[in-house]
Amino acid sequence: MSILYGIFIFAFGAVVGSFTNVLIYRLPKRKSIIFPGSHCPNCSSKIKPYDNIPIISYIILGGKCRNCKAKISIRYPIVELLMGLCYLTFFIAFYPNDLLRFIQFIILAPIFLSLSWIDIEHWEIPDELSISIIIVGLASALLIGSWNGLLNSVIAGGIGAIIFWILSKIGKKIFQKEALGEGDIILIAGLGTLVGVWGVFIVMIIGALIGMLAGFVVLFIRKNILKQKSPSSAVPFGPFLIIGAIVAILWGTKLVELYLSTFQV
Ligand SMILES: [Zn+2]
Repeated sequence: MSILYGIFIFAFGAVVGSFTNVLIYRLPKRKSIIFPGSHCPNCSSKIKPYDNIPIISYIILGGKCRNCKAKISIRYPIVELLMGLCYLTFFIAFYPNDLLRFIQFIILAPIFLSLSWIDIEHWEIPDELSISIIIVGLASALLIGSWNGLLNSVIAGGIGAIIFWILSKIGKKIFQKEALGEGDIILIAGLGTLVGVWGVFIVMIIGALIGMLAGFVVLFIRKNILKQKSPSSAVPFGPFLIIGAIVAILWGTKLVELYLSTFQV
């Protein structure tokens, strides 16, 4: 890989990271993600193109708005940097041998990152993001496979949604509060269409396992470090389902083979 290609793909990722920031900021507020253009959340002044260069502008402006000097959230350069590094990783890992996967990850990365960030910060999953995943899932199934692939994809989304819907009803009865929200149900439908019938079980199992583990860690921190009186072990589920989906996409076939050979199904 030439260094020039690497720099270009990193810069491309950082620009998409800029857009990811728009998603993170505007979707929970139910604002349009297209209009108006970038502006300072404090003084509403329009951000000039030369002040809107990912990562670099933040450093040059010292993390402050040029007009009103209000502090700009460190989230902006972090997300841009993360996306730049993600795209560089996809390029090294998948290009040019697995072009379809490369394109798939390029499209999914901003969706996955903004969804996880919003779920952690606001405890909600915007439908727009989950529906985008459904579209990517169906389109990939059609491109890779055939009508069978598409059928598998649709069934997987349905299975995920039905299982989560049943679990949410049971959870409500037992715990008297919402354990699995509507957002989680639409998200698992999306991830299901993306990873197929075997994959959707991997997503649910891995998501639940890491989610539980994170719950214990969070409970420990809230109890012993933050000294909360009645600490809760609740964690947003979205990010863990997404980790499950990434595992299913990358190593799903191997995991299923391992399972089948172990249990001699
Ligand atoms: Zn300002």
